[in-house]
Amino acid sequence: MATIHTTPSRNAAMSLKLHDTLSRELRPLVPSDGRTFRFYCCGPTVYGPAHIGNFRTYVLHDVLRRALEIDAARSGHAVLHVLNITDVDDKTIAGAAEAGVSLADFTQGWIDRFHDDCTRLGLLRPHHEPRATAHIDEQIRLVQTLLDRGHAYAASDGSVYFRIASFADYGKLTRLPERELRAGAAAAAGEAHLSDEYERDQIADFVLWKARKPGDGEVFWPSPWGEGRPGWHLECSAMSMAYLGETFDLHGGGVDLCFPHHENEIAQSEAATGKPFARHWFHCAHLMVEGRKMSKSLGNLHTLDELQAEGHAPETLRYLLLSGHYRQQLNFTRHGLGAAASALDKLRSGARTLRQASGLEAAGSAPSPEGLPPDFGPFEPAWQALGEDLDVPRCLGLTFETLASLRKSPPAGDDARAAAAGLAGIGFALGLDLFAESEAAPIPAEAARLAEERWQAKSRKDFATADRLRGELLQLGFKVLDRKDGYDLEPA
Ligand SMILES: [Zn+2]
Repeated sequence: MATIHTTPSRNAAMSLKLHDTLSRELRPLVPSDGRTFRFYCCGPTVYGPAHIGNFRTYVLHDVLRRALEIDAARSGHAVLHVLNITDVDDKTIAGAAEAGVSLADFTQGWIDRFHDDCTRLGLLRPHHEPRATAHIDEQIRLVQTLLDRGHAYAASDGSVYFRIASFADYGKLTRLPERELRAGAAAAAGEAHLSDEYERDQIADFVLWKARKPGDGEVFWPSPWGEGRPGWHLECSAMSMAYLGETFDLHGGGVDLCFPHHENEIAQSEAATGKPFARHWFHCAHLMVEGRKMSKSLGNLHTLDELQAEGHAPETLRYLLLSGHYRQQLNFTRHGLGAAASALDKLRSGARTLRQASGLEAAGSAPSPEGLPPDFGPFEPAWQALGEDLDVPRCLGLTFETLASLRKSPPAGDDARAAAAGLAGIGFALGLDLFAESEAAPIPAEAARLAEERWQAKSRKDFATADRLRGELLQLGFKVLDRKDGYDLEPA
């Protein structure tokens, strides 16, 4: 029987491997339906601006999305990315009341701000961005299923709770010891959790549907159990399954969401469907700020606007946020931002040299994954590093190493074009437009003159003068990198 091959790589296996929080193993990322890799990330609660700690998670999810798209394009698959917007909870309701506007108007303003921040940080838009208030029916249906199957109960106040004792696997993601579970008749004892957030030592039945209370104002929906609104955990189960199916390929979020949010999502979903929920769990470690935990009381919940007002480019922040391994805490400092800016300049200077050597016109914006070459030439090892547990630090290290060796023996013609295309591919994966002209100020005339004088001195073997001029350039903030037939000036 004849087999039709469309492209050589069509339906090849995807190659990315990622640590899975649930199994504690490095596992290949495979689309379970053989076609589309489907994944869901917990998105923002829109009652204020997202801070840089939130954006560390979103930027790293964006790198994963981009790596998946490259991998999918190479292997003939597709990617489907869903991010939810929590637009109803205690904080959004309180914020709207304080602002004296409707909940919808209040949250829309913060959703617009979130989109604006994401655009500036180079985040690809999710394919779907469902809002909790637009999926109340799905959430009510999920609660009804849980009631029908004996996993939930309605309390006398009209709220509905998940019965933790009914789900034997509760706690499997964070491996909660059995003895910590205090489930059972918690509601009767007044211990069930009406609050969406609580600590690990307070495990008890959690709320699925919150009965309407006076503080909710006009924010409520009718349900079989009376007027009220969904609990926070419920929306992610209902919306992820609505857009991605009862079992999908990956679920991600910040590490702080493991408990209770993700444990509760697993419990609700698997108890309702009897099927596995997400096949792979991806969690990003915390961001620290100047060595301290981020908190409102320390006043270090920095926003992108704040940092831009200090003169930092959004792409610099993006670089800093993605530069640490996602499973390790990253310490944000102003010094680190400066280092990120010069690392980015270095990459762009390397890109500029390659572009010139390749004879290509100024490249436009970052390419699409479909437009990328089948392999990244000399930058293929840097790409492969991303495939091993999304190791961005190693990917960056190998990119710099490759640039250094290309500087020593500059490629020409097709080799230069392959190298430029490979570097553009790394740029796409990291969401950094390396071929953009640097936003840094152009090299000042004085520095250019000194550099030229130094080159002349060196050419006539007057090394004392050349060294003195190198020192003067350093004073001006520029470093000279000699090539065989010339030199580059880079910010020091
Ligand atoms: Zn969620």
